[in-house]
Amino acid sequence: MLLSALWLAVAAWSAGRDSYTVLVSLDGLRWDYAEAFDTPFFDRLAMQGVKAVVTPSFPSKTFPNHYSLATGLVPDHHGIIANKFKIRSSGKVFTLSDSTMRGDPQYYGGDPLWLTVKHQGLPTATVYWVGSDVAIKGEHPDYWRSYSGELMSLEQRVDEVIRLLRLPDDQRPHLVMAYFEEPDASGHSHGPISAPTRQAMERMDSLMSVLWTRIQALPFGSEVNLIITGDHGMTWVNHERQLFPMDYLKPEWVDQIDNDFPALIYASQAQYIDSIYTALRAVDHLRVWRRGEVPAYLNYGTDKNMADVMVLPDVGWVFDQTPWTDGGTHGYDHTLSDMWVAFRAIGPDFKQGYTRAGTFRNVCVYPLVCHLLGVAPSPCDGSLDEVLDLLR
Ligand code: AMP
Ligand code: ZN
Ligand code: ZN
Repeated sequence: MLLSALWLAVAAWSAGRDSYTVLVSLDGLRWDYAEAFDTPFFDRLAMQGVKAVVTPSFPSKTFPNHYSLATGLVPDHHGIIANKFKIRSSGKVFTLSDSTMRGDPQYYGGDPLWLTVKHQGLPTATVYWVGSDVAIKGEHPDYWRSYSGELMSLEQRVDEVIRLLRLPDDQRPHLVMAYFEEPDASGHSHGPISAPTRQAMERMDSLMSVLWTRIQALPFGSEVNLIITGDHGMTWVNHERQLFPMDYLKPEWVDQIDNDFPALIYASQAQYIDSIYTALRAVDHLRVWRRGEVPAYLNYGTDKNMADVMVLPDVGWVFDQTPWTDGGTHGYDHTLSDMWVAFRAIGPDFKQGYTRAGTFRNVCVYPLVCHLLGVAPSPCDGSLDEVLDLLR
């Protein structure tokens, strides 16, 4: 029994040696964009590969979810619990706009794919994936880019993936993870189903088509699996559906409110936690929880930096002190379908023309990629069993 398990492990390991995986994240790739818009390449992927819908982890925000895709851990377990949150031990604020905080490895728990794979002997590369420009455990992927200064255009990123795959045999990465800001940026500015978001999605569709054509033209193109997914979906918001926190709270109760939503409210003193909670519980279109009381299905609220009170508006509602304009956003309950994400995969290990019934959790991408590359995954919240049906 033990011997056969060992043999299987060795077989998987050696299979991974000639195998390559390109994992692409299109930020804000709502599950139904390819149905709503004209996306011939996404349609081709559905016919020649695998089509599925992924549920993000809570909260449905960019940093928490890219790092969940990378580690297979939900945000509550990897520590990046929001795009912006307070570090309770120091009072500092982790936020994307502060490169020192964002670049501090102590906030990034778990074992991201680029390290899991690299540590098992296969070179890895990222093109701007969240966390990969941070020296997590003192290390980066073999090839990576800093998300600062002038960024490569979306087209240049495709060139970069191909350049990496053309490196000589002994230097070539077996895992390439690439990040693209669209269609999230257009979805925010103009709303999910709108002409500019359509254009952005159609541009991404054609860019992905170019990427796949160029991968196929490589001498080892038939050994490359391509996965295209994203971090969360998008829904409409409207300035008439905005609630302002300080309409309900006394300034002396509140130390700070971080992240638009879920809003993370830190009380100025413990005695005010109940005042904040009670005041907001009375407001329509808000769900409010104290630390430790967040419902289990959200998988949230046990991290050491969790706020005293968490507020989650109903989908389409905004809870923020800064006035909003109409457009799109995300961050809501991850079980709501507007937050779900499209998934396509093609290559030697994926079924052809397979549409998966039902969703799977984004934390399963980590064990899936480990399996494709024949490396052992670190302990995680995802499960390979949940996605085995995608494979041949
Ligand atoms: P969100 O507010 O959740 O929509 O965040 C999306 C934003 O995250 C995008 O506009 C990106 O500019 C930003 N972003 C994505 N990756 C990174 C990164 N590695 N470092 C800093 N910011 C990033
Ligand atoms: Zn995002
Ligand atoms: Zn966004």
